[in-house]
Amino acid sequence: MVFKQLRASGGIWLNYAGKNILIDPGPGCLVRCVESRPKLDPMTLDYILLSHRHLDHCADVNTMIEAMTEGGFSPRGILLAPSDALDGDDRVILRYLRSYLNGIVTLGKGVFELDGFSLEVIPLIHHGVETFGFKFSSDKERSLSIVVDTKFFDEIPFLFKADIMILSVTLHKKREEIDHLSLDDVLKILQKANPSLAIMTHFGRGMLFKKPWVIAEELSKVTGLNIKAASDGMKLDF
Ligand SMILES: [Zn+2]
Ligand SMILES: [Zn+2]
Repeated sequence: MVFKQLRASGGIWLNYAGKNILIDPGPGCLVRCVESRPKLDPMTLDYILLSHRHLDHCADVNTMIEAMTEGGFSPRGILLAPSDALDGDDRVILRYLRSYLNGIVTLGKGVFELDGFSLEVIPLIHHGVETFGFKFSSDKERSLSIVVDTKFFDEIPFLFKADIMILSVTLHKKREEIDHLSLDDVLKILQKANPSLAIMTHFGRGMLFKKPWVIAEELSKVTGLNIKAASDGMKLDF
């Protein structure tokens, strides 16, 4: 999907509690930001958040650090990333860029108090790499969680329960040997977590060929929940 660009892979730009947060800048992130209308200016970013170091989630992370900081001339922003993205043999953050940032935070299970909001970091199960999902909360905003690439486990609905939930729905049919959520897994999660809005994204081929927007409509009818399918460039006001 990503490497044929059947769907765009630039990640999610989130404005939460007045902060601009870039989540998982995959291939094409900078181009998508610049071509977006209205344009998304990387120099207004406050945080870059990396869930894990697979290329579809991090390919443009160095590019975005450079763009956010004007090539290091205007240091800004905090990068939050798993330890194997920062220090492992396969680290993905270039060393020379690190001094351009105002801070680097190594992610781990727990709650991080950031500027104006709390970020709960929740470990997930995903092949070969450290992976974390996120839950954002603040006095001013509805809570929002992001379940990225993971094998299903029973605690997910409880851990990620939030007003708005974004979920990676990679598989149309469950495959036990693959550490990704299937449509059935996601249905199970949503029925237990009962969010006011759910957004499905990160579709594999099986999902795309079955038309995610049709699936979302059918699921909304069956469950009585408000379920949407992400599309390239999609903008949502919460
Ligand atoms: Zn992955
Ligand atoms: Zn992925």
